Order: sequence, then structure tokens, then C-alpha cells
Amino acid sequence: MKKQITIIGAGLVGSLCSLYMSKRGYDVNVFERRRDLRNDNISAGKSINLALSKRGWTALERVGVDKDVMKIAIPVYKRIMHDKDGNLTHQQYGKKDEAIYSVSRSLINLLMMDLAEKNGAKIFFNEKCVDINFEKTQAIFENTNTKKTTISVSDFIIGADGAFSEVRKKMVEKLKHEYRYDEIEHDYKELLIPAGENNKYLMDKNALHIWPRGNFMLMALANLDGSFTCTLFAPKTGNNSFEKLKDQKSVEKYFTKNFLDFSQIVPDLYEQWTNNPTSKLGIIKTYPWHNKNNTILLGDSAHATVPFYGQGMNCGFEDCRILDELLEKHENIEECFNEYSQIRKPNGDGVQELSMHNFIVMRDKTADPNFLLQKKIENKFSKKYPELWQPLYSMVSFTNIEYSKAIKIGEKQENIMKTIMQEKDIHLNWDSEETMKKIKSLIT
Ligand SMILES: Cc1cc2nc3c(=O)[nH]c(=O)nc-3n(C[C@H](O)[C@H](O)[C@H](O)COP(=O)(O)OP(=O)(O)OC[C@H]3O[C@@H](n4cnc5c(N)ncnc54)[C@H](O)[C@@H]3O)c2cc1C
Repeated sequence: MKKQITIIGAGLVGSLCSLYMSKRGYDVNVFERRRDLRNDNISAGKSINLALSKRGWTALERVGVDKDVMKIAIPVYKRIMHDKDGNLTHQQYGKKDEAIYSVSRSLINLLMMDLAEKNGAKIFFNEKCVDINFEKTQAIFENTNTKKTTISVSDFIIGADGAFSEVRKKMVEKLKHEYRYDEIEHDYKELLIPAGENNKYLMDKNALHIWPRGNFMLMALANLDGSFTCTLFAPKTGNNSFEKLKDQKSVEKYFTKNFLDFSQIVPDLYEQWTNNPTSKLGIIKTYPWHNKNNTILLGDSAHATVPFYGQGMNCGFEDCRILDELLEKHENIEECFNEYSQIRKPNGDGVQELSMHNFIVMRDKTADPNFLLQKKIENKFSKKYPELWQPLYSMVSFTNIEYSKAIKIGEKQENIMKTIMQEKDIHLNWDSEETMKKIKSLIT
């Protein structure tokens, strides 16, 4: 008989997972708290966008939907840093054709829901999970309109219900799983740079734009309709914080002082400022990520992180791929879930560590000439000896190397580069044969 699977949450990870599980031939029922967003008229531009990188693509490819997603993706080959005077510095991400991709959160979500349904998954909307009976493998839902209760009984339950997961909450309450939430001192707000005339992009669409300003920063990624979704990350309180931006005068002054070129192309800045929410950011840790053979967590429900490496969704997509591989490997579901928890947890921790680290890189270091020089040296060496050196950003964004392994390799590289950056006249000799030889000698 076909295995019956209940998936909770039809967000990015739940909808991809439902596609994976239906392609495995399981009978898949997905329960989503929200209404069906496909009934809303969502334009390509007005939604938040996300950076999709190699491990996300690998997961999409394994289930055969990468080509569909590519149609709604914009390649991003480099960072462009904007200084206070509007001067630009370009920094290529990887090798010539290596790119991360900007995709609309809602378009990719809707596309995957469509594909999951085409493959036989059933999605029930307005169904909020309110409880889990782990002994009986039952998920209990309340309809948000009718308040009617539904009980879904299945062979196993997949919790893909995001950072504030009800499934995880029940694991913590009833099974005493470990749990920790750390909110960071920075909040964020999304703003939109509109398209120019005839949907013209007002900045380079194939770049991630960053306005690094020390303890706060703005960044922007292109949408398909010529606009850019921008995110301001700033402290809650203190200097340059959200707390200080209470009226039109203070908001406009802040933007003209810190982000002049941005403010010149956003005519309705204050209107957006008041209409768009200010949101919190945090890191969630929990363990284990499963219970026996009946329940498992994927995506943000297991490892929500801060968005500074653009890896939260990518890591969640990787969870789907790894779970699928383990279901292939194990007949025994409990063994499969055990291995999943064990191998994914260090990578969940890894993506969180990398995300916090990249925040410091983006807000402080991308404006630091020494950091930019260090990256130039690393790139030069890595081009010359690709088998010896792959920069950390490339390992994370352009390979499927486990996050935890990438961190270890990155630490070694950082130590080597500390020595190199102390070499006499390094800013003059950075691309010399001597410098390359010195790096090589430090590796081996
Ligand atoms: C500002 C910002 C920028 C980001 N940028 C990137 C990026 O560039 N690249 C990247 O890889 N990641 C990025 N992320 C992270 C990414 O958004 C998340 O990792 C991703 O959305 C996780 O997907 P998910 O399906 O696990 O959770 P979600 O997308 O949150 O989906 C969870 C789903 O479960 C539903 N749900 C919740 N509770 C219940 C319940 N009780 N019952 C039923 N359904 C429920 C929700 O309605 C939702 O549909 C960013 C995050 C933020 C905040």
C-alpha cells in the first residue's frame, strides 16, 4: 500500500518536499495555514525576492523542476558596493559564469505548489496545525474560517511550518526536545526601488547591491519587472537605529545622509517606510529534528537563521534532497530519520554560524580596502590553483560541500591570509609570483 504522508506548511520547503514525496509515489496531504495565494493577483515585482544558489538548484534539479524555476530567475554575478558619495566598487562572486539567482519568493512558492499538485499532492488551505499526537502519528488542524477540526493520520508527519513551527513546539513541550531562540539586535524593513520608464532597471540587475555602513546596511536584488527589493538592516536602538526614525524628517535625513543614490530613485520613500513593517531576526536551534519513525522537521522549523548569507531556503531545499536520498537508502524509517537528524544538525548549526559571520562581512568589511585586497589575492590564487583553494563564499554558494566542512576549510584559509596580509608591501606585491608561492607553501 502507498505510504501516507502529512506535510505541515506549504511554504518554500513544504511545497518542494511535497513534490519530492509525491514523486516517490507517496500519498501526500499538505496542510497550510494561509489561504491559497494563487487566487491573489501577485505581480513579479511586488514580492520579496531571495537568492537561490547551488545547493538550492541541486535540490530542484534532483526533482526535475530546475528548468521551470530558471525561467523566473535573474543571475547575479557580483556585489556592487555603494559608498556614501554614490561611488561604486564591483566584486565578482566567483568564476566568470558563477552566479547566485534572484527569485521572487511568491512566484517560486506558487510554481512549486502547482507542480506538487500536478504530481498528485493534495494541498488543503486555511488549515492551521494546532496539535500533534506523536503516539498515533496524528496531526490536528483547525480551519481558520470554519473553526472545524480535522485529524490527519499518516505513516509519518513532516513539519515544514517555518520558524514559529507548531510541530517543533509540540516536540519541545511533549518530548522535551532541546530548543533555543536568540533574537539579534538588528531588525529589518523592506523597501522597493521602482522600475524606470518602460520597466528599465535603474541599477545593474545582475548584481547584489550593498550600501555597507558599519553597524547598519542596505541591500538590493532585482525583480523581473525592473524594480529592486531592498532591505535595510539596522539596530533596534542606539546610533543609526530604527528607534531614531520616527517621522518623515528623520527618515529622509537618514537616507539622504547614508544612502543618497538610493534615496534619489525612491520618490515615495516615507510612504513605503510607514506602510512596510519592521521585522525581527533570530536564530532557532532545536534537537533532535525527528521523533522515532513518525515526525521530522525540515527547513526553518529546524534551523531558522538570519538572512545574511542568503542560505535559509537553500539549506531547507538541501534538507529535502538529503531526506529523499536517505529514504532511498533506508527501508526502516526510524533509521532514516535518525541519520537525517545526525547529519543535518551540524549543517543547520553551520549555516547559522556562516549567516552571522557574513553579516559582519557585508556591513563592515565590504567597505574595508584591506578586506577587498585579501579577496583579490584569494581569487587570484584560486584561479591559479583551483584544486588547492576555493574561497569560503564559493564553497557555500557554488558547491554542495557541507556547511560544517566549508567552515573548517574557511578557518584554515583565514589563518593563511592573516599571515599573507602582514607581508611587507602586500598592497604592491599582491599578485606577484612570490605571494602565490608563499600561499602555496602555507597550505602544504
Ligand atoms: C528578509 C529575509 C531574506 C531572506 N533571504 C533569503 C535568501 O536570499 N536566500 C535564502 O536561501 N533564504 C533567504 N531567507 C530565508 C528563507 O526565507 C527561509 O529560510 C525560508 O522561507 C524557509 O522556508 P520554510 O518553508 O521552512 O518556511 P516558511 O517559508 O516560513 O514557510 C512555512 C509555511 O508554513 C505555514 N505554517 C506556519 N505555521 C503553520 C501551522 N501551524 N499550520 C499550518 N501551516 C503553518 C506558513 O504559513 C508558511 O506557508 C530570507 C529570510 C528573510 C527573513
